[in-house]
Amino acid sequence: MALWTCATCGAQFPDSVNPPTACPICEDERQFVGWSGQAFLTREELARKHRLVGRDDLGLTGIGMEPSFAIGQRALLVPDGDGCVMWDCIPLATDEAIQHVAALGGLLRTGGHFAGATVLHYARGADGKGALLTGDIAQVTMDRRFVSFMYSYPNYMPLNAAAVRRIASVVEPLAFDRVYGAWWGRNIASGAKAAFAASVARYLAAIA
Ligand SMILES: [Zn+2]
Repeated sequence: MALWTCATCGAQFPDSVNPPTACPICEDERQFVGWSGQAFLTREELARKHRLVGRDDLGLTGIGMEPSFAIGQRALLVPDGDGCVMWDCIPLATDEAIQHVAALGGLLRTGGHFAGATVLHYARGADGKGALLTGDIAQVTMDRRFVSFMYSYPNYMPLNAAAVRRIASVVEPLAFDRVYGAWWGRNIASGAKAAFAASVARYLAAIA
């Protein structure tokens, strides 16, 4: 029996002798099937072709895969009490990475996205000014001064206004000065509360 991982999106599947026949994430209208067709790797193949790297990303420890795999996001470890919250997931775990996380105090829980989209408010982040870890629920733009929203990134389907207003209303009461996005360096270092509000206004104006 093998543990299978989708080569296009990184979703993991229960162990089975043969790979899955399809990936429901890739077949969803928000994702896509790889141009060469659906492909799956065993955990051993994944570990042979990629390694995990840990490095600082604006004051938090990030863990990502090299070379980049699937959508290329990195996970963040947020200090919390005696351990860490692991924010966002990556499709590979190695003994070395597990030992590294354990040395930082271990994990308390994990966060996820896609169905049941979630953002994490790290109140003690950004030197006590608060930080928001958004994954790709609010995507930090390349100029790192705004966030934006999409229903599907690879297929360029914008998120509707009602959903964006709902996100804005949830975030509005939270105090934060920094936003950590889903990829290495894709963060808004400071002034993120105002940047978030300006981003929502800009987005809603753009799709009006
Ligand atoms: Zn997939």
